[in-house]
Amino acid sequence: MKYNIVTYGCQMNVHESEKLAYICEKMGYEHTEKREDADLIIFNTCAVREGAEDRVFGNVGALKKLKKQRPNLIVAVCGCMTQKESTANYIMKTFPFVDIVIGTFNLPNFEYYVNAVKRGRQLELYSEGDLDEVIPYKRTSGDNAWVNIMQGCNNFCTYCIVPYVKGREKSRREENILNEIKGIIAEGKYKKITLLGQNVNSYGNDLKTGENFAKLLRDICKLDGDFKLTFMTSHPKDLTDEVIDVIASEDKILKEIHLPAQSGNNRILALMNRKYTREKYLDIIRKIKEKIKNVRITSDFIVGFPTETEEEFQDTMSLVREVEFDGIFAFMYSPREGTVAKEMQGQIDESVKNRRVNELLKLEKEIQERKNNGN
Ligand code: SAH
Ligand code: SF4
Repeated sequence: MKYNIVTYGCQMNVHESEKLAYICEKMGYEHTEKREDADLIIFNTCAVREGAEDRVFGNVGALKKLKKQRPNLIVAVCGCMTQKESTANYIMKTFPFVDIVIGTFNLPNFEYYVNAVKRGRQLELYSEGDLDEVIPYKRTSGDNAWVNIMQGCNNFCTYCIVPYVKGREKSRREENILNEIKGIIAEGKYKKITLLGQNVNSYGNDLKTGENFAKLLRDICKLDGDFKLTFMTSHPKDLTDEVIDVIASEDKILKEIHLPAQSGNNRILALMNRKYTREKYLDIIRKIKEKIKNVRITSDFIVGFPTETEEEFQDTMSLVREVEFDGIFAFMYSPREGTVAKEMQGQIDESVKNRRVNELLKLEKEIQERKNNGN
């Protein structure tokens, strides 16, 4: 019996899929790259933008024929999209051939669902569960090992669905993280360790035991072993001087930082509920560049947030020009059900968003070309 996993979205989802892969192999399934050969096909979905959701609908729909030819094929849709009850219901109604529809929080019960389908072939319903950190992973990302340090997010940026589908911030205990990393080092297969969290800089705040991100980084670097350490994502409002100093001083930490700015305009940043200004962001960038030699800085931007004017978009362009990032991701704003921004007046036309995103990406390309030519 074979399984195939289709993963959408962020690195955290890639890592969640490693958890699913472990569960599949424990049940006796073997991995296959070919969807047509699989007896169990899992879609691990992303809800951050509408485009990602549409791709899932298209790819799930395309399985109807395969499922007709091979009725014993099990199709599962899980992850952030199906953590939303309305989307889970929509999938069950629109694609009745899908056997399992479960949210992120229910992944630890995946084996139970597959067995239930095998027994009765009935559709299992979305339900709430608890995130369980004890399930091991089948690591599938080459010489990089992902390590989750926290789940969820408390920030409620007004455009973002993540806090609604992933819940509030919950940090793992440092001791558990260090033990996982010791195991990774002992395996001897991994050169790089990447810590994952929606906002790694607020690691430990919920534990109230004095644990924090700078200390965690330092304690990981103290472990014996030949590895490089990196992490994502950092929220500018929580990136402390202490963390910058640790990155600068620890040889094991890669000199790279992903610091999403989202916009270069103060009115839009306030509407986004990002809790920093353009000036504060530039101040942090200045500190990073001063303290960390040859640092690579990357960022995320959203264009066409509700009410964004042409001048305000130009503030984003000028921020990108000023910082000369080593890479950016630029997204057209996508209204997400249940978020504050979706209900805002002044939604921007798709054509305008499209033009702005292309303009921003063109600028980014020019900057990269200039940098590559050493200017
Ligand atoms: N926790 C991380 C990443 C969250 S999602 C952070 O705070 O940076 C990854 C990126 O998707 C975000 O940085 C943002 O640029 C983008 N994004 C999130 N919601 C979006 C939306 N509704 N429309 C367009 N882009 C969005
Ligand atoms: Fe979303 Fe903001 Fe949390 Fe990032 S910090 S996951 S953008 S709410």
